[in-house]
Amino acid sequence: MDTSDSVPLILRLSSSDDIVESDCACASDFAQFLFQVSGLQQESDCACADFHIADNDCACADDNGAHIPHALDNTIAWQRAPALYRAPLVGDYELALNSFATGLVVLNAPARRVLDAFAQPRTLPQALAALDWFAHAYATRAAREFAALGLLRPVGVSNIPTHTQPRTLTAWLHITNACNLRCAYCYVDKTNEAMDERTGIAAVDAIFHSAQAHGFRAVKLKYAGGEPSLNFALVMKLHAHARHLADSSGLELREVILSNGVALTDAMLDAIRDARIRLMLSLDGIGATNDAQRASADGRGSYARIVHTIDRALARGITPHLSITVTARNANHLAETVAFALERELPFNLNFVRGSGVSNATLIRGVRAALAVIENNLPKHSLLGVLDLARLDQPHAYTCGVGHSYVVIDHRGRIARCHTNLARTVGDVRHDDPLLAIQSARGDFENVSVEQKDGCRECTWRYWCAGGCPLLSLKTTGQSNAPSPYCEAYKALYPELVRLEGLRLLRWQHN
Ligand code: SF4
Ligand code: SF4
Repeated sequence: MDTSDSVPLILRLSSSDDIVESDCACASDFAQFLFQVSGLQQESDCACADFHIADNDCACADDNGAHIPHALDNTIAWQRAPALYRAPLVGDYELALNSFATGLVVLNAPARRVLDAFAQPRTLPQALAALDWFAHAYATRAAREFAALGLLRPVGVSNIPTHTQPRTLTAWLHITNACNLRCAYCYVDKTNEAMDERTGIAAVDAIFHSAQAHGFRAVKLKYAGGEPSLNFALVMKLHAHARHLADSSGLELREVILSNGVALTDAMLDAIRDARIRLMLSLDGIGATNDAQRASADGRGSYARIVHTIDRALARGITPHLSITVTARNANHLAETVAFALERELPFNLNFVRGSGVSNATLIRGVRAALAVIENNLPKHSLLGVLDLARLDQPHAYTCGVGHSYVVIDHRGRIARCHTNLARTVGDVRHDDPLLAIQSARGDFENVSVEQKDGCRECTWRYWCAGGCPLLSLKTTGQSNAPSPYCEAYKALYPELVRLEGLRLLRWQHN
């Protein structure tokens, strides 16, 4: 008897939102969450593999696509979850993605047999009887895990995901309106103005006040601009103040600096490491490819300085996250940029430019070339968040937290809904509850649920894509509830991305 042919194997990435929101810049940032059902062994976390969902510069998708796990009850009928996306992987392995609960899982043939035994409504004893199989103990264990993962559902339970209150209030702090680069796609109307200390302290106070008043459990601060390293002393002061407020309020605190990497000194990097603030650096290509769209005002390229910063960060134990903005200029060079990230084991995100000028065909071609590079060097970190705004690790109905769980504070203390729309302010941190001001704002674009987006309601990918950036949809189609202008690229690339994630789970399952 060859038990390898009869033991269900289920590999998955945890759907915990803590994965996305981790705050450290170094190795402790990485959660380990490979889950394997193998025979009757205890559930075990992989000891070595590190997985990490990529972050991006936007407000995270609302972390409110709650899955309520079910304990398998022998007395009631269960059925395989509806709307499962399934695709073959390699050998007899298959991937399954459940838009109503836990994200991607990889199944071997015995695991699939257990799942498919519930194609029709059945109790567990009925399903076991239908399985012409000696290993009922294994099958029972697998069925219990499927129920916990949401792949099996009690008959009659709603197919609509349960949306709960997001746990994290995310705030963009516009530390300065100045920048030392002139990137081609920048949406900031730059001046030499910087946030002062009084304004910054008032902003952090107001953010924590909002978080407590609205029942959040965590605050995430994004130190941004402009280029925040140009006002670095304020970053560290606000960090210290936020740390104090978090300790006294019991709120969890996560922080990230969004930097172009050009002016970060050794002392700044030491401070970032010691404060356990994550670091996101922008890099759009190798050499001239990057420099064509990320240059100083005098035309000097930034590539060499960014790479020098990456090297110095790595030497200090900081793992910077690379933000790669994809435009018509660099799309054909994505493969070499991704190879750079993979060689250094850096998490990265491919952000499709929030403007016009890059076609879906160009994006698809460029990203496909990058995916081919990834397939030959599968990383330890998850791929489920690397593609633009996609969050394929957990279902969510809103693309981002705008209007719900995201506040933007500009350098003067004015409140805005989106960092790409700073001119449209809705209040001031010295007078208002920032989140309430945002929730009360009308007359601007709407960030509606994907269930309210014409053209997205029936899409296979709706609870992972959520329809894309609503502001970009408004600018390009006149309607914020229209599918993303990048929809064609999303639909072409998501299947290829989840296939790679499945291969990645198989690749690292024993590490
Ligand atoms: S934008 Fe396109 S891929 Fe995304 S949910 Fe809408 S229809 Fe689906
Ligand atoms: S509206 Fe668009 S640009 Fe603004 S936070 Fe949301 S996804 Fe990002």
